Amino acid sequence: MSTIFQKIIDKEIPADIVYEDEEALAFRDIQPQAPTHVLVIPRKPIANVAAMDAGDKELLGHLLWVAGEVARQEGLEDYRLVTNNGEGAGQSVFHLHVHLLGGRALGWPPG
Ligand code: AMP
Repeated sequence: MSTIFQKIIDKEIPADIVYEDEEALAFRDIQPQAPTHVLVIPRKPIANVAAMDAGDKELLGHLLWVAGEVARQEGLEDYRLVTNNGEGAGQSVFHLHVHLLGGRALGWPPG
C-alpha cells in the first residue's frame, strides 16, 4: 500500500527536503515537535523496523548515518533519533522513518 512518504519519494507531493541520495531522503516534519524535526526515510518501501529483513541491515545503518549528517548540517550536538514501530508505539505512517529531533531540551523517558 502506497503511503504519503512514497508520494514524497516520487515527487508527487512537495516536501522540504534537506538531504537526498540514492538510498535515502530526509525532509522536515510537517508538524514539528522541536525546532529541528527531520524525518529520514529509505527509498525502499519498508513499513517499519519489524518488517526489515537481514538484507536491510546496511540500509538501516545508512539511515542513522544520514541522520547524523543532517544533525551536523543543522548545527546540532545534542539530538534524539526515534523510530516508532507499530500503531501502539505512535507510528502513523507505515514507511520506515527515523525522527531527528533537536534544538530544545529533550526529557527522558519520552512518556
Ligand atoms: P510517526 O507517527 O512516527 O509514524 O511519524 C509520522 C510523521 O510524519 C509525523 O510526525 C507527521 O507529522 C509526519 N508527516 C505526515 N505527513 C507528512 C508530510 N506530508 N510531510 C512531512 N511530514 C509528514
